[in-house]
Amino acid sequence: MGNESYPMKGGDGTFSYTKNSSFQKAASSVAQGLICSAITDKFDAQKFLMSTTSTAPASATSTICIADLGCSVGPNTFTAMQNVIDTIEAKSKIHSQSPQFQVFFNDHTGNDFNTLFTSLPSNRAYFSAAVPGSFYGRLFPDASLHFIHSSYALQWLSKAPEELVNMDSEAWNGGRIHYTGAPQGVVDAYCRQFFKDMELFLDGRARELVVGGMMVLIMPCVPDETVTHSQVPAGIMFDLLGASLLDMVKTGVISQGQVDSFNLPIYGVAPKEMEALVEKNGRFSIEKMELTNPASAVKSTEDSLNTSVSGNAIARHLRAGMEGILSNHFGVDIMDELFDRFSQKTMEFSERFNACHKQGTQLFLTLVKRK
Ligand code: SAH
Repeated sequence: MGNESYPMKGGDGTFSYTKNSSFQKAASSVAQGLICSAITDKFDAQKFLMSTTSTAPASATSTICIADLGCSVGPNTFTAMQNVIDTIEAKSKIHSQSPQFQVFFNDHTGNDFNTLFTSLPSNRAYFSAAVPGSFYGRLFPDASLHFIHSSYALQWLSKAPEELVNMDSEAWNGGRIHYTGAPQGVVDAYCRQFFKDMELFLDGRARELVVGGMMVLIMPCVPDETVTHSQVPAGIMFDLLGASLLDMVKTGVISQGQVDSFNLPIYGVAPKEMEALVEKNGRFSIEKMELTNPASAVKSTEDSLNTSVSGNAIARHLRAGMEGILSNHFGVDIMDELFDRFSQKTMEFSERFNACHKQGTQLFLTLVKRK
């Protein structure tokens, strides 16, 4: 469908996503409690299910269908899905219902689904299936899902805006790999791409969810429009990654043109922008919109970000997520040097990290499908 696809590093080796996704896990663990409350307060599973006591409506089902969009290879997706199921189950028991569960794991076709399915928890009490493809297109039949979850995936644009590589455009982004520190034209091009993509995402999901179905989205964000992306942790990482690449231009390992023509297809949304998009779509009500601070959870799991071990851990996490897209453009041969250089910038990272905005850099959004 013309979408670019750069899945996380598959397998279970040193640089795999499986072994290097604890930051995402810590960040989304903040969200697990919020998901429980959202389901408990606003998800009416009993409305969808066949009743054991009264005559069932014709549309009733015995199965709750759940999808995780941008699931990657695990283990975070398993924890999230189990949490959703446990909470729905507990709520259903009160109504003497015991639904079956079907979980659809979605990611790009290039995702390492083999690793995902070979590591499925053996004690799971749900049916599982893969749904490959971009979530910026249709993935499921109309009104076939009851619950949609997506964590740390929607910051990925379908592609980097094309204007960024046009030297005659206001959005020309030479010498940078992202929009941190870039002219307004570049920021605007990124923003336009995000809006285009998110409109497609919301349109698709509005068709696929049943009325009353719930969608929970967890994504990195900037707390408001006045905070630039270079003032949040992810933006700092991308800045230093860009600086590492430019160091390698200086030593002649890669060319300036290679950096000029590369742009990360990633956007950090502001809550107001999401609100505007949901309102424009018009098919969902916003049940909850909350900003949390994932950095505190990450910090407590990783001892301290000031140690060199953590510097390496940051480099490995970034590598697990970014090696696909970077090696596709710059070649696999430079990856070791690139991430070595990146981890040598740990001191700078720590200083900027300590001074940056950490409050409200994770957006938690609960939407319910309207009639
Ligand atoms: N949800 C997991 C994985 C996050 S990594 C967790 O919280 O740990 C982001 C994932 O989103 C990657 O696996 C990437 O391939 C996927 N992704 C990005 N854009 C996508 C798209 N358009 N369609 C489907 N998956 C996408």
